[in-house]
Amino acid sequence: MRYRSTRSSDEYLSGREAVLQGIAGDGGLFVPDRMDFCGFPWTELMGLSTEEMAERIFEYFLNDFTGIPEIVTRSYTGKFDDPELTPLKKVGDLYVLELFHGPTAAFKDVALSALPVLMSEARKQLGREEQILILTATSGDTGKAAMEGFRDVPGTGIIVFYPYGGVSPVQEAQMNTAEGRNVRAVAVRGNFDDTQTGVKKIFAALTESMRQEKKTVLSSANSINIGRLVPQIVYYFKAYASLLSMGEIALGELVDFTVPTGNFGDILAGYYAKKLGLPVGKLILAANKNNVLRDFIDSGVYDKNRPFYRTNSPSMDILVSSNLERLLYDISGGDCETVKGLMEKLSGEGRYEISEEMLEKLQDSFASCDADEEKTVAAIRKVYEKYGYLIDTHTAVAWASAEEYREKTGSGRKNVVLSTASAYKFPDAVRKALGLPKQEDPFSVLPLIHEETGVKIPENLQDLKKKPVRFTDVIETREMPGYVEKTVDSGDLYR
Ligand SMILES: *Cc1c(COP(=O)(O)O)cnc(C)c1O
Repeated sequence: MRYRSTRSSDEYLSGREAVLQGIAGDGGLFVPDRMDFCGFPWTELMGLSTEEMAERIFEYFLNDFTGIPEIVTRSYTGKFDDPELTPLKKVGDLYVLELFHGPTAAFKDVALSALPVLMSEARKQLGREEQILILTATSGDTGKAAMEGFRDVPGTGIIVFYPYGGVSPVQEAQMNTAEGRNVRAVAVRGNFDDTQTGVKKIFAALTESMRQEKKTVLSSANSINIGRLVPQIVYYFKAYASLLSMGEIALGELVDFTVPTGNFGDILAGYYAKKLGLPVGKLILAANKNNVLRDFIDSGVYDKNRPFYRTNSPSMDILVSSNLERLLYDISGGDCETVKGLMEKLSGEGRYEISEEMLEKLQDSFASCDADEEKTVAAIRKVYEKYGYLIDTHTAVAWASAEEYREKTGSGRKNVVLSTASAYKFPDAVRKALGLPKQEDPFSVLPLIHEETGVKIPENLQDLKKKPVRFTDVIETREMPGYVEKTVDSGDLYR
Protein backbone atom coordinates (compact mmCIF):
# COMPACT_ATOMS: atom_id res chain seq x y z
CA MET A 1 0.00 0.00 0.00
CA ARG A 2 1.38 3.39 -0.96
CA TYR A 3 0.12 6.82 0.03
CA ARG A 4 -0.42 9.92 -2.05
CA SER A 5 -1.77 13.38 -1.44
CA THR A 6 -5.45 14.22 -1.91
CA ARG A 7 -4.37 17.32 -3.87
CA SER A 8 -1.75 16.11 -6.37
CA SER A 9 -0.02 12.97 -7.53
CA ASP A 10 3.59 14.16 -7.31
CA GLU A 11 4.46 12.23 -4.22
CA TYR A 12 4.08 8.51 -3.39
CA LEU A 13 5.11 7.45 0.10
CA SER A 14 5.22 4.18 1.97
CA GLY A 15 3.18 3.74 5.14
CA ARG A 16 6.22 4.40 7.33
CA GLU A 17 7.07 7.58 5.48
CA ALA A 18 3.47 8.82 5.53
CA VAL A 19 3.19 8.23 9.29
CA LEU A 20 6.41 10.13 9.93
CA GLN A 21 5.59 13.01 7.64
CA GLY A 22 1.97 13.41 8.76
CA ILE A 23 0.78 15.80 6.06
CA ALA A 24 1.65 15.99 2.34
CA GLY A 25 3.99 18.67 1.06
CA ASP A 26 1.18 20.35 -0.91
CA GLY A 27 -1.01 20.67 2.19
CA GLY A 28 -3.18 17.68 1.24
CA LEU A 29 -3.77 14.57 3.31
CA PHE A 30 -2.27 11.17 2.62
CA VAL A 31 -4.70 8.59 1.21
CA PRO A 32 -4.14 5.03 -0.02
CA ASP A 33 -3.22 5.10 -3.71
CA ARG A 34 -5.74 2.30 -4.30
CA MET A 35 -9.37 3.37 -4.69
CA ASP A 36 -10.92 0.10 -3.59
CA PHE A 37 -9.95 -2.37 -0.92
CA CYS A 38 -11.78 -5.34 -2.38
CA GLY A 39 -10.50 -8.79 -1.62
CA PHE A 40 -9.88 -8.00 2.04
CA PRO A 41 -10.82 -11.22 3.87
CA TRP A 42 -13.01 -9.47 6.44
CA THR A 43 -14.92 -12.57 7.56
CA GLU A 44 -11.65 -14.07 8.81
CA LEU A 45 -11.46 -11.29 11.40
CA MET A 46 -14.72 -12.20 13.07
CA GLY A 47 -13.39 -14.87 15.44
CA LEU A 48 -10.29 -12.91 16.43
CA SER A 49 -9.40 -10.88 19.51
CA THR A 50 -9.32 -7.10 19.15
CA GLU A 51 -5.51 -7.14 19.10
CA GLU A 52 -5.47 -9.78 16.36
CA MET A 53 -7.94 -7.72 14.32
CA ALA A 54 -5.63 -4.74 14.77
CA GLU A 55 -2.71 -6.79 13.47
CA ARG A 56 -4.60 -7.73 10.30
CA ILE A 57 -5.73 -4.20 9.60
CA PHE A 58 -2.33 -2.63 10.37
CA GLU A 59 -0.70 -5.21 8.11
CA TYR A 60 -3.08 -4.35 5.28
CA PHE A 61 -2.60 -0.56 5.42
CA LEU A 62 0.92 -0.28 6.82
CA ASN A 63 2.49 -3.26 5.12
CA ASP A 64 6.02 -1.87 4.95
CA PHE A 65 6.34 -1.90 8.75
CA THR A 66 8.07 -4.96 10.14
CA GLY A 67 7.03 -6.46 13.47
CA ILE A 68 3.37 -5.43 13.42
CA PRO A 69 2.40 -7.94 16.16
CA GLU A 70 4.95 -6.37 18.54
CA ILE A 71 3.76 -2.90 17.55
CA VAL A 72 0.19 -3.83 18.46
CA THR A 73 1.29 -5.39 21.75
CA ARG A 74 3.29 -2.32 22.71
CA SER A 75 0.38 -0.07 21.73
CA TYR A 76 -2.31 -1.69 23.82
CA THR A 77 -1.03 -4.10 26.46
CA GLY A 78 -1.87 -2.94 29.95
CA LYS A 79 -3.29 0.40 28.80
CA PHE A 80 -7.02 -0.32 28.67
CA ASP A 81 -9.19 -1.29 31.62
CA ASP A 82 -11.28 -3.76 29.60
CA PRO A 83 -9.84 -6.98 28.12
CA GLU A 84 -11.80 -6.41 24.90
CA LEU A 85 -10.40 -2.84 24.65
CA THR A 86 -13.63 -1.59 23.03
CA PRO A 87 -16.57 -3.61 24.42
CA LEU A 88 -20.09 -3.44 22.97
CA LYS A 89 -23.13 -3.11 25.25
CA LYS A 90 -26.78 -3.60 24.39
CA VAL A 91 -28.76 -0.66 25.77
CA GLY A 92 -32.48 -0.68 24.98
CA ASP A 93 -32.93 -1.06 21.24
CA LEU A 94 -29.47 0.27 20.46
CA TYR A 95 -25.91 -0.93 20.96
CA VAL A 96 -23.21 1.22 22.53
CA LEU A 97 -19.60 0.76 21.49
CA GLU A 98 -17.56 1.90 24.49
CA LEU A 99 -14.40 3.54 23.19
CA PHE A 100 -13.40 5.18 26.47
CA HIS A 101 -11.54 2.42 28.31
CA GLY A 102 -8.07 3.79 27.55
CA PRO A 103 -5.64 5.82 29.66
CA THR A 104 -7.46 9.18 29.31
CA ALA A 105 -11.09 8.02 29.12
CA ALA A 106 -11.75 9.29 25.57
CA PHE A 107 -11.87 7.49 22.22
CA LYS A 108 -8.72 9.32 21.08
CA ASP A 109 -6.79 6.80 23.19
CA VAL A 110 -7.46 4.04 20.65
CA ALA A 111 -5.43 5.82 18.00
CA LEU A 112 -3.04 7.75 20.23
CA SER A 113 -1.88 4.59 21.98
CA ALA A 114 -0.70 3.29 18.61
CA LEU A 115 0.54 6.41 16.79
CA PRO A 116 3.62 7.02 18.98
CA VAL A 117 4.68 3.40 18.62
CA LEU A 118 4.19 3.58 14.85
CA MET A 119 6.15 6.83 14.68
CA SER A 120 9.11 5.67 16.71
CA GLU A 121 9.20 2.36 14.80
CA ALA A 122 9.04 4.19 11.46
CA ARG A 123 11.93 6.39 12.59
CA LYS A 124 13.97 3.39 13.67
CA GLN A 125 13.17 1.22 10.67
CA LEU A 126 13.96 4.01 8.21
CA GLY A 127 17.22 4.73 10.02
CA ARG A 128 16.35 8.36 10.72
CA GLU A 129 18.57 10.00 13.31
CA GLU A 130 16.58 13.12 14.04
CA GLN A 131 14.47 13.39 17.14
CA ILE A 132 10.75 13.95 16.64
CA LEU A 133 8.99 16.88 18.29
CA ILE A 134 5.21 16.65 18.32
CA LEU A 135 3.39 19.99 18.46
CA THR A 136 -0.33 19.80 19.06
CA ALA A 137 -3.09 22.31 19.57
CA THR A 138 -5.94 20.85 21.54
CA SER A 139 -9.45 21.75 22.59
CA GLY A 140 -9.08 19.19 25.39
CA ASP A 141 -9.09 15.48 24.62
CA THR A 142 -6.34 15.12 22.02
CA GLY A 143 -3.79 16.89 24.21
CA LYS A 144 -3.89 14.56 27.16
CA ALA A 145 -4.30 11.43 25.03
CA ALA A 146 -1.26 12.45 22.97
CA MET A 147 0.82 13.23 26.09
CA GLU A 148 -0.07 9.85 27.50
CA GLY A 149 0.73 8.12 24.20
CA PHE A 150 4.09 9.80 23.64
CA ARG A 151 5.12 9.68 27.30
CA ASP A 152 8.74 8.45 27.45
CA VAL A 153 8.68 7.08 23.89
CA PRO A 154 12.37 7.13 22.85
CA GLY A 155 13.38 9.81 20.36
CA THR A 156 10.16 11.77 20.72
CA GLY A 157 9.02 14.79 22.67
CA ILE A 158 5.66 16.55 22.79
CA ILE A 159 4.42 20.05 23.52
CA VAL A 160 0.67 20.56 23.82
CA PHE A 161 -0.90 24.01 23.51
CA TYR A 162 -4.38 24.60 24.86
CA PRO A 163 -6.54 27.72 25.06
CA TYR A 164 -6.25 29.34 28.49
CA GLY A 165 -9.64 28.99 30.18
CA GLY A 166 -10.97 27.14 27.12
CA VAL A 167 -10.91 23.56 28.38
CA SER A 168 -12.84 21.90 31.21
CA PRO A 169 -11.21 21.82 34.69
CA VAL A 170 -10.90 18.04 34.42
CA GLN A 171 -9.19 18.30 31.05
CA GLU A 172 -6.81 21.01 32.28
CA ALA A 173 -5.83 18.98 35.32
CA GLN A 174 -5.28 15.93 33.14
CA MET A 175 -2.75 17.87 31.07
CA ASN A 176 -1.06 19.85 33.82
CA THR A 177 -0.38 16.80 35.94
CA ALA A 178 0.75 14.59 33.05
CA GLU A 179 3.75 12.41 33.73
CA GLY A 180 6.69 11.70 31.45
CA ARG A 181 10.08 13.28 30.98
CA ASN A 182 9.37 14.29 27.38
CA VAL A 183 5.94 15.93 27.69
CA ARG A 184 4.95 19.58 28.22
CA ALA A 185 1.63 21.44 28.30
CA VAL A 186 1.24 25.18 28.05
CA ALA A 187 -1.80 27.46 28.12
CA VAL A 188 -2.12 30.09 25.41
CA ARG A 189 -4.09 33.30 25.77
CA GLY A 190 -6.71 33.05 23.01
CA ASN A 191 -9.28 30.58 21.78
CA PHE A 192 -8.73 27.22 20.13
CA ASP A 193 -8.50 28.69 16.62
CA ASP A 194 -5.79 31.15 17.77
CA THR A 195 -3.89 28.25 19.30
CA GLN A 196 -4.20 26.12 16.18
CA THR A 197 -3.11 29.02 13.97
CA GLY A 198 -0.16 29.55 16.31
CA VAL A 199 0.94 25.95 15.86
CA LYS A 200 0.62 26.19 12.08
CA LYS A 201 2.84 29.29 12.19
CA ILE A 202 5.47 27.44 14.19
CA PHE A 203 5.55 24.74 11.52
CA ALA A 204 6.03 27.37 8.82
CA ALA A 205 8.67 29.32 10.76
CA LEU A 206 10.72 26.61 12.43
CA THR A 207 10.53 23.38 10.41
CA GLU A 208 13.72 24.03 8.43
CA SER A 209 15.87 25.51 11.18
CA MET A 210 14.84 22.82 13.61
CA ARG A 211 15.83 20.13 11.15
CA GLN A 212 19.15 21.70 10.20
CA GLU A 213 20.35 23.24 13.44
CA LYS A 214 18.75 21.07 16.09
CA LYS A 215 18.31 17.69 14.35
CA THR A 216 14.63 17.82 15.23
CA VAL A 217 11.72 16.98 12.96
CA LEU A 218 8.45 18.71 13.76
CA SER A 219 5.36 16.57 13.48
CA SER A 220 1.77 16.56 14.64
CA ALA A 221 -0.50 14.20 16.53
CA ASN A 222 -3.68 15.65 15.03
CA SER A 223 -6.14 13.33 13.41
CA ILE A 224 -4.97 13.98 9.87
CA ASN A 225 -2.11 11.50 10.36
CA ILE A 226 -2.86 8.19 8.60
CA GLY A 227 -1.39 6.50 11.67
CA ARG A 228 -4.36 7.76 13.64
CA LEU A 229 -6.95 6.73 11.12
CA VAL A 230 -5.90 3.10 10.70
CA PRO A 231 -6.24 2.05 14.39
CA GLN A 232 -9.78 3.46 14.43
CA ILE A 233 -10.91 1.11 11.65
CA VAL A 234 -10.42 -1.83 14.01
CA TYR A 235 -13.28 -1.14 16.39
CA TYR A 236 -15.90 -1.20 13.63
CA PHE A 237 -14.88 -4.79 12.97
CA LYS A 238 -14.85 -5.48 16.68
CA ALA A 239 -18.40 -4.13 17.06
CA TYR A 240 -19.65 -6.26 14.20
CA ALA A 241 -17.95 -9.36 15.63
CA SER A 242 -19.53 -8.64 19.03
CA LEU A 243 -23.00 -8.42 17.46
CA LEU A 244 -22.37 -11.77 15.80
CA SER A 245 -21.18 -13.46 18.96
CA MET A 246 -24.11 -12.01 20.93
CA GLY A 247 -26.38 -13.64 18.37
CA GLU A 248 -27.92 -10.29 17.45
CA ILE A 249 -27.15 -10.47 13.71
CA ALA A 250 -26.41 -13.02 11.00
CA LEU A 251 -23.14 -12.87 9.08
CA GLY A 252 -23.53 -10.40 6.22
CA GLU A 253 -26.45 -8.47 7.77
CA LEU A 254 -26.09 -4.70 7.36
CA VAL A 255 -25.51 -2.67 10.51
CA ASP A 256 -25.76 1.12 10.91
CA PHE A 257 -23.28 3.11 12.98
CA THR A 258 -24.01 6.49 14.58
CA VAL A 259 -20.90 8.58 15.17
CA PRO A 260 -20.57 11.84 17.15
CA THR A 261 -18.48 13.87 14.76
CA GLY A 262 -16.08 16.80 14.89
CA ASN A 263 -13.02 16.49 12.70
CA PHE A 264 -14.52 13.56 10.72
CA GLY A 265 -11.75 11.12 11.71
CA ASP A 266 -13.83 8.63 13.65
CA ILE A 267 -16.59 8.32 11.05
CA LEU A 268 -14.12 8.19 8.15
CA ALA A 269 -12.60 5.08 9.75
CA GLY A 270 -16.11 3.57 9.52
CA TYR A 271 -16.23 4.42 5.84
CA TYR A 272 -12.89 2.68 5.33
CA ALA A 273 -14.24 -0.35 7.22
CA LYS A 274 -17.17 -0.40 4.81
CA LYS A 275 -14.77 -0.22 1.87
CA LEU A 276 -12.91 -3.19 3.32
CA GLY A 277 -16.12 -5.19 2.97
CA LEU A 278 -17.64 -4.93 6.45
CA PRO A 279 -21.46 -4.92 6.04
CA VAL A 280 -21.98 -1.31 7.09
CA GLY A 281 -25.39 0.10 6.17
CA LYS A 282 -25.50 3.83 6.84
CA LEU A 283 -22.95 5.86 8.72
CA ILE A 284 -25.08 8.35 10.59
CA LEU A 285 -23.17 11.52 11.31
CA ALA A 286 -24.27 13.04 14.60
CA ALA A 287 -23.64 16.78 14.96
CA ASN A 288 -24.20 19.22 17.80
CA LYS A 289 -25.34 22.84 17.32
CA ASN A 290 -22.26 23.40 15.14
CA ASN A 291 -24.02 21.46 12.40
CA VAL A 292 -22.00 22.42 9.35
CA LEU A 293 -21.51 18.74 8.44
CA ARG A 294 -25.17 17.92 8.80
CA ASP A 295 -26.05 20.61 6.32
CA PHE A 296 -23.32 19.37 4.00
CA ILE A 297 -24.63 15.82 3.95
CA ASP A 298 -28.18 17.04 3.34
CA SER A 299 -27.36 19.59 0.63
CA GLY A 300 -23.84 19.12 -0.72
CA VAL A 301 -23.00 22.67 0.34
CA TYR A 302 -20.22 23.12 2.90
CA ASP A 303 -20.46 26.58 4.41
CA LYS A 304 -18.43 27.55 7.46
CA ASN A 305 -19.67 31.13 7.37
CA ARG A 306 -21.91 30.77 10.39
CA PRO A 307 -21.72 31.46 14.12
CA PHE A 308 -19.49 29.23 16.23
CA TYR A 309 -21.12 27.85 19.36
CA ARG A 310 -19.48 26.61 22.52
CA THR A 311 -21.58 23.62 23.52
CA ASN A 312 -21.61 20.98 26.24
CA SER A 313 -20.00 18.56 23.74
CA PRO A 314 -16.86 20.67 23.16
CA SER A 315 -14.86 18.03 21.29
CA MET A 316 -17.33 18.44 18.43
CA ASP A 317 -17.23 22.24 18.37
CA ILE A 318 -15.56 22.49 14.99
CA LEU A 319 -16.45 24.31 11.78
CA VAL A 320 -13.64 23.03 9.56
CA SER A 321 -13.43 19.24 9.53
CA SER A 322 -10.01 18.30 8.22
CA ASN A 323 -10.61 14.64 7.46
CA LEU A 324 -13.56 15.38 5.21
CA GLU A 325 -10.97 16.04 2.51
CA ARG A 326 -10.23 12.31 2.36
CA LEU A 327 -13.88 11.56 1.71
CA LEU A 328 -14.06 14.25 -0.99
CA TYR A 329 -11.12 12.56 -2.67
CA ASP A 330 -12.95 9.27 -2.60
CA ILE A 331 -16.36 10.41 -3.83
CA SER A 332 -14.75 12.41 -6.63
CA GLY A 333 -13.24 9.14 -7.87
CA GLY A 334 -9.73 10.17 -6.79
CA ASP A 335 -9.80 13.46 -8.70
CA CYS A 336 -7.16 15.56 -6.95
CA GLU A 337 -7.83 18.63 -9.12
CA THR A 338 -11.42 18.70 -7.87
CA VAL A 339 -10.33 18.29 -4.26
CA LYS A 340 -7.73 21.01 -4.61
CA GLY A 341 -10.32 23.35 -6.11
CA LEU A 342 -12.79 22.70 -3.30
CA MET A 343 -10.14 23.25 -0.63
CA GLU A 344 -9.09 26.52 -2.26
CA LYS A 345 -12.71 27.67 -2.22
CA LEU A 346 -12.96 26.71 1.44
CA SER A 347 -9.93 28.75 2.44
CA GLY A 348 -10.91 31.65 0.18
CA GLU A 349 -14.68 31.97 0.51
CA GLY A 350 -15.29 29.58 3.40
CA ARG A 351 -17.76 27.70 1.23
CA TYR A 352 -17.96 25.13 -1.55
CA GLU A 353 -20.53 22.96 -3.27
CA ILE A 354 -19.99 19.44 -4.62
CA SER A 355 -21.49 18.04 -7.84
CA GLU A 356 -24.77 16.09 -7.99
CA GLU A 357 -22.81 12.94 -8.71
CA MET A 358 -20.58 13.39 -5.66
CA LEU A 359 -23.59 14.16 -3.46
CA GLU A 360 -25.28 10.97 -4.59
CA LYS A 361 -22.24 8.92 -3.62
CA LEU A 362 -22.03 10.75 -0.31
CA GLN A 363 -25.66 10.01 0.54
CA ASP A 364 -25.21 6.37 -0.43
CA SER A 365 -23.08 5.85 2.66
CA PHE A 366 -23.92 8.75 4.98
CA ALA A 367 -26.97 10.19 6.66
CA SER A 368 -27.04 12.88 9.32
CA CYS A 369 -28.94 14.12 12.35
CA ASP A 370 -28.15 16.67 15.04
CA ALA A 371 -28.93 17.44 18.66
CA ASP A 372 -28.79 20.79 20.45
CA GLU A 373 -27.78 21.12 24.10
CA GLU A 374 -31.28 20.55 25.43
CA LYS A 375 -31.71 17.36 23.45
CA THR A 376 -28.27 16.24 24.60
CA VAL A 377 -29.09 16.68 28.27
CA ALA A 378 -32.51 15.05 27.74
CA ALA A 379 -30.84 12.02 26.16
CA ILE A 380 -28.46 11.58 29.11
CA ARG A 381 -31.39 11.74 31.49
CA LYS A 382 -33.59 9.40 29.49
CA VAL A 383 -30.93 6.74 28.91
CA TYR A 384 -30.06 6.78 32.60
CA GLU A 385 -33.63 6.71 33.86
CA LYS A 386 -34.81 4.08 31.41
CA TYR A 387 -31.82 1.76 31.25
CA GLY A 388 -29.59 2.71 34.20
CA TYR A 389 -26.81 3.41 31.72
CA LEU A 390 -24.72 6.57 31.98
CA ILE A 391 -23.49 8.36 28.83
CA ASP A 392 -21.43 11.49 28.27
CA THR A 393 -22.54 14.51 26.25
CA HIS A 394 -20.91 13.43 22.97
CA THR A 395 -22.43 9.97 23.19
CA ALA A 396 -25.75 11.64 24.01
CA VAL A 397 -25.61 13.65 20.79
CA ALA A 398 -25.15 10.37 18.95
CA TRP A 399 -27.89 8.62 20.91
CA ALA A 400 -30.42 11.34 20.13
CA SER A 401 -29.34 11.28 16.48
CA ALA A 402 -29.69 7.50 16.22
CA GLU A 403 -33.22 7.70 17.60
CA GLU A 404 -34.13 10.57 15.30
CA TYR A 405 -32.78 8.67 12.31
CA ARG A 406 -34.80 5.58 13.13
CA GLU A 407 -37.97 7.59 13.65
CA LYS A 408 -37.49 9.57 10.47
CA THR A 409 -36.69 6.61 8.22
CA GLY A 410 -38.55 3.84 10.01
CA SER A 411 -35.36 1.80 9.78
CA GLY A 412 -35.28 -1.25 12.01
CA ARG A 413 -31.67 -2.05 11.19
CA LYS A 414 -29.33 -2.70 14.11
CA ASN A 415 -27.66 0.52 15.11
CA VAL A 416 -24.37 0.90 16.98
CA VAL A 417 -23.83 4.21 18.80
CA LEU A 418 -20.15 5.07 19.22
CA SER A 419 -19.48 6.21 22.78
CA THR A 420 -16.48 8.50 22.65
CA ALA A 421 -15.92 9.54 26.26
CA SER A 422 -16.57 8.56 29.85
CA ALA A 423 -19.39 10.56 31.43
CA TYR A 424 -16.85 11.68 34.06
CA LYS A 425 -14.92 13.71 31.50
CA PHE A 426 -17.81 16.14 31.09
CA PRO A 427 -19.27 15.87 34.56
CA ASP A 428 -21.10 19.14 34.89
CA ALA A 429 -23.53 18.54 32.03
CA VAL A 430 -24.07 15.01 33.30
CA ARG A 431 -24.73 16.33 36.80
CA LYS A 432 -27.33 18.69 35.39
CA ALA A 433 -29.01 15.92 33.40
CA LEU A 434 -29.30 13.81 36.54
CA GLY A 435 -30.80 16.71 38.48
CA LEU A 436 -27.95 16.87 41.01
CA PRO A 437 -27.01 20.11 42.83
CA LYS A 438 -24.38 22.47 41.46
CA GLN A 439 -20.93 22.21 43.06
CA GLU A 440 -18.41 24.96 43.81
CA ASP A 441 -15.42 22.68 43.33
CA PRO A 442 -15.53 21.07 39.87
CA PHE A 443 -13.79 17.96 41.19
CA SER A 444 -16.50 17.20 43.74
CA VAL A 445 -18.94 16.59 40.87
CA LEU A 446 -17.29 13.23 40.14
CA PRO A 447 -17.93 11.58 43.52
CA LEU A 448 -21.40 13.11 43.51
CA ILE A 449 -22.29 11.37 40.23
CA HIS A 450 -20.68 8.19 41.49
CA GLU A 451 -22.77 8.25 44.64
CA GLU A 452 -25.94 8.71 42.63
CA THR A 453 -25.27 6.16 39.88
CA GLY A 454 -22.73 3.71 41.26
CA VAL A 455 -20.86 3.96 37.94
CA LYS A 456 -17.14 3.58 38.52
CA ILE A 457 -14.96 6.65 38.09
CA PRO A 458 -12.12 5.78 35.68
CA GLU A 459 -8.95 5.32 37.68
CA ASN A 460 -7.10 7.95 35.67
CA LEU A 461 -9.66 10.59 36.69
CA GLN A 462 -10.02 9.46 40.28
CA ASP A 463 -6.82 10.80 41.80
CA LEU A 464 -6.42 13.73 39.47
CA LYS A 465 -6.93 16.27 42.21
CA LYS A 466 -4.16 14.81 44.32
CA LYS A 467 -1.53 14.71 41.59
CA PRO A 468 1.15 17.43 41.63
CA VAL A 469 0.74 20.15 39.00
CA ARG A 470 3.80 20.17 36.74
CA PHE A 471 2.91 22.79 34.14
CA THR A 472 1.74 26.29 34.94
CA ASP A 473 3.01 28.42 32.03
CA VAL A 474 0.57 30.78 30.33
CA ILE A 475 1.88 32.49 27.21
CA GLU A 476 0.74 34.81 24.41
CA THR A 477 0.31 33.38 20.91
CA ARG A 478 3.29 35.39 19.67
CA GLU A 479 5.49 33.71 22.27
CA MET A 480 4.75 30.19 20.98
CA PRO A 481 7.75 29.77 18.62
CA GLY A 482 10.13 31.08 21.28
CA TYR A 483 8.65 28.68 23.79
CA VAL A 484 9.32 25.75 21.46
CA GLU A 485 12.93 26.81 20.82
CA LYS A 486 13.61 27.35 24.50
CA THR A 487 12.20 23.94 25.38
CA VAL A 488 14.27 22.17 22.73
CA ASP A 489 17.43 24.10 23.68
CA SER A 490 17.09 23.17 27.32
CA GLY A 491 17.79 19.58 26.25
CA ASP A 492 15.46 18.22 28.93
CA LEU A 493 12.95 16.72 26.53
CA TYR A 494 15.25 14.15 24.95
CA ARG A 495 17.53 13.31 27.79
C1 LIG B 1 -12.56 14.06 19.20
C2 LIG B 1 -13.85 13.66 19.77
C3 LIG B 1 -15.00 13.49 18.95
C4 LIG B 1 -14.99 13.78 17.47
O1 LIG B 1 -14.23 12.85 16.73
P1 LIG B 1 -13.71 13.24 15.27
O2 LIG B 1 -12.86 12.11 14.85
O3 LIG B 1 -12.93 14.51 15.44
O4 LIG B 1 -14.90 13.42 14.42
C5 LIG B 1 -16.18 13.08 19.56
N1 LIG B 1 -16.25 12.86 20.88
C6 LIG B 1 -15.17 13.01 21.70
C7 LIG B 1 -15.33 12.77 23.15
C8 LIG B 1 -13.94 13.40 21.16
O5 LIG B 1 -12.88 13.56 21.99
